[in-house]
Amino acid sequence: MDDRVFNFNPGPAVLPVSVLERARDELLNFKGLGMSVMEMSHRSKAFEAILDRTESLLREILSIPEEYAVLFLQGGASLQFAMVPMNLALDGRPVDVLDTGHWTRRAIAELEKIAPYRIAASTSEEGYRRLPRPDEIELHPDASYVYMASNNTIYGTQWRWFPDTGNVPLVADMSSDILSRRIDVARFGLIFAGAQKNLGPAGVTVVILRRDLAERADEKLPTMLQYRTHVARRSLYNTPPTFGIYFIGLVLEWVQSQGGLSAIERRNEEKARLLYEALDASEFYETPVAGEDRSLMNVVFRIRGGDEELERRFVSEAEAAGLVGLKGHRSVGGLRASLYNAQSVEAVCALVDFMRAFEEKYG
Ligand SMILES: *Cc1c(COP(=O)(O)O)cnc(C)c1O
Repeated sequence: MDDRVFNFNPGPAVLPVSVLERARDELLNFKGLGMSVMEMSHRSKAFEAILDRTESLLREILSIPEEYAVLFLQGGASLQFAMVPMNLALDGRPVDVLDTGHWTRRAIAELEKIAPYRIAASTSEEGYRRLPRPDEIELHPDASYVYMASNNTIYGTQWRWFPDTGNVPLVADMSSDILSRRIDVARFGLIFAGAQKNLGPAGVTVVILRRDLAERADEKLPTMLQYRTHVARRSLYNTPPTFGIYFIGLVLEWVQSQGGLSAIERRNEEKARLLYEALDASEFYETPVAGEDRSLMNVVFRIRGGDEELERRFVSEAEAAGLVGLKGHRSVGGLRASLYNAQSVEAVCALVDFMRAFEEKYG
């Protein structure tokens, strides 16, 4: 595999090589059926077995309680920004939103069109460099639900705790940190995640929701936009993203082969520690993110003083050295290394070595 680069892309992102190899090996002839998963009916026994296996692995790994449904949908996390309020917002009961960056702003833009909301906390005035503290969050017991993003992919912050919302369902966009650590699913009413960061290829969105919440929606909503449709038909109302679901199943088997979520979590902590320690030890690099809020998935950093010319050079020299995807999001600039589950410790060490050499040359 020595022609593979160290891939720090924010999403779609690096996938485990052993999973890619397995998908390759099974591509032309899946389990002796003489066709690929892409070519088989979504109503076939073979595909049903794949769907069942993927769902049960996800349930096992995340300890998803029985009263939650697991859905495999299309439309990305971005469709969930609309589907969540369309299904979960109740008359006269605004949504409480924790605004922590670009992706919660996107969700708010959809709320503008669909349902009343209140900003329960926001760190926008501080450039989203940190997360709200408990005493800054104003939740209301009459809210339809509380909305948050567990990891802010662009600003590099990640919640280490989740607010206690009492009887109000907590909804979380976990697109960029699902399966990166253990979570208590029962704390949430609904969790959604686009697959392309920690779960598999783009094109599938996983939704985990408490079944009773699917009954909130007006039956007049378009059929495809109601969670209850997909709950009732187990993601088979129409043709689901079959290859993506199969691929997520392979990634979940890989997670288990690594020792499960606690082993993955430990390795994620180790990778992030290596990189943040290197950043903190250097006068040349700096990270704008407050210590306790630093994301283990997306490490955002700059070259001292935000020297854009030097940052451009960093990105291009890193690429020449086989380290790709280190440019920060266009809305914030700077640099970012994404350390999703499939990122190796070896890749992080290679990045730290490169950073030291670059500092020696230009620092
Ligand atoms: C990547 C990302 C999205 C956007 O996902 P799409 O599948 O492209 O709609 C939304 N939220 C978060 C937190 C993300 O990281």
